[in-house]
Amino acid sequence: MIILKIIELIKGLFNGSRDDKDKTLSFEVKCNKCKKINEIKVLKTYDIATVYEDSQPGNYKLKKYIVCPDCYNKIHLEIFFDKRYQIITSECNNGDLL
Ligand SMILES: [Zn+2]
Repeated sequence: MIILKIIELIKGLFNGSRDDKDKTLSFEVKCNKCKKINEIKVLKTYDIATVYEDSQPGNYKLKKYIVCPDCYNKIHLEIFFDKRYQIITSECNNGDLL
């Protein structure tokens, strides 16, 4: 009976965390080499860093290397966001941010 309760508890935890879409951002990046469109999901808490330097634009910054699953092209993505996670400026090497 105790085990059952633990399972219920774990289920509750997973259901709870599935709701908050706010924690993730998703982008589509087109590979320059094979033209495949790759969907990228990032966690705000894990992948996005706060910007402290005044010389850099925006409040948050994402830096990510993506390897295209079709052609192994290495795509380098760098995006600056404002407080609301709206893109201010972006740079994408070997690919295009859509
Ligand atoms: Zn590719």
